[in-house]
Amino acid sequence: MLTDEGTRAELDAAGLERRRPDQRMTTMGAGSDDLESGRAYLAATVAGGWALPTWPAEFGGRGADSAEAAAIGRVLREYAVPDLYPYSIGLGMAGPTLLTHGTPDQQQKWLRPIADGSEIWCQMFSEPEAGSDLANVALRAERDGDEWLLDGQKVWTSRAMWAVWGLCLARTDPEVPKHKGLTMFAVDMGAPGVDVRPLVQMNGDKHFSEVFLSGARVPDAWRIGDVGTGWSVAMTVLAHERALAGESRGGGDGQARGQRLPRWLADVAALGAFEGDGGAVWRERAMGALLTSEAARLTAARSAAEAATGKAPGPAGSGAKVRRVDQYKAQAYLAKDAQGATGMLDDHEGQVEFMTAPSMSIRGGTDEIQRNILGERVLGLPGEPRVDRDVPWSRARKGVI
Ligand SMILES: Cc1cc2nc3c(=O)[nH]c(=O)nc-3n(C[C@H](O)[C@H](O)[C@H](O)COP(=O)(O)OP(=O)(O)OC[C@H]3O[C@@H](n4cnc5c(N)ncnc54)[C@H](O)[C@@H]3O)c2cc1C
Repeated sequence: MLTDEGTRAELDAAGLERRRPDQRMTTMGAGSDDLESGRAYLAATVAGGWALPTWPAEFGGRGADSAEAAAIGRVLREYAVPDLYPYSIGLGMAGPTLLTHGTPDQQQKWLRPIADGSEIWCQMFSEPEAGSDLANVALRAERDGDEWLLDGQKVWTSRAMWAVWGLCLARTDPEVPKHKGLTMFAVDMGAPGVDVRPLVQMNGDKHFSEVFLSGARVPDAWRIGDVGTGWSVAMTVLAHERALAGESRGGGDGQARGQRLPRWLADVAALGAFEGDGGAVWRERAMGALLTSEAARLTAARSAAEAATGKAPGPAGSGAKVRRVDQYKAQAYLAKDAQGATGMLDDHEGQVEFMTAPSMSIRGGTDEIQRNILGERVLGLPGEPRVDRDVPWSRARKGVI
């Protein structure tokens, strides 16, 4: 196993730059679509397998075990990482899912272009009537010889406009209960019959799109997993998504080594909010945000320690996600409020984070759904009533979990 110094020497040789102490955390893609820096970073790290150390070397990793990967991850955080958000579905969700469920041919075809940044993936799960109730997916896939014909609509598809491939959950059998009639496909986003229509959010970002599929043809060779096993493939994707959302990724958290006050809090202090008559109120609020952040940091550290033992991400990732959302919101709202009326101006620093914060509670499964998962699968509390579990999807009341 490489020492930290050895890793640093190799990363320096690969041309990676050290992170400046004042470099801020990523805004999860909001406001930045700098595809080129992400691609350049991935292209620079792929030969050494640094960005994806646990992946096999032939696919752009270095075959590291989880302890070695955790050590590399710690050193990597000392380096400037561009906002990899546009690539994160491929790197953090589609890639690991293909390693688990993909055929050897699929792994050969898709993994290396994910690792080197040449092909972006998107996740086509949600539909107008299938969000929290994801198993209600209605987009149809019908077999036609060696191909499938896909018809229906997806929505909220992050970065679909940049994606070369879409991981698409489709209904292949409406006559069995909803979880059993689903199958996962990879869709060529540039194929005839695939229409991507970007939507504008309140933070000004065109983060996600509606995607309409009308008779889009998908070869059977691009089916991921057996017919009817789409739900279990989707669960693998979602477990990775929650683990990802619970992490503090990219560009670091703006915290220099040895610095006592986190950067985001130092910024609030610099505004003078903690002084004068109202100072005590702001200090109390700031301490609340600091405690929330510490809870998120420690939860993420626990998840990372679990990951270092080689365990696949499980339901506890929902806890890390909820904490991370609380942290993001506490920091974004404090920074905005401490600036008074100026904080509401479009061009003030922190506006993107402020306008992005509400979406954190929705993407990757809402706070309520994460808490349901924690209640049922971590704490062992009684499950919600599920009235349509054994009813064929075609005859079930829709939108009932
Ligand atoms: C920024 C962003 C990016 C996204 N990117 C993607 C993507 O790339 N791909 C993709 O497929 N999807 C994506 N999504 C969609 C996201 O996964 C869904 O929005 C989310 O799962 C909620 O579904 P919904 O919007 O249909 O809300 P609904 O499911 O209709 O929920 C509405 C409200 O009811 C609550 N609720 C629903 N059921 C329950 C229950 N059983 N118990 C308690 N409360 C409940 C919810 O918490 C929520 O508050 C993205 C969303 C956002 C905001």
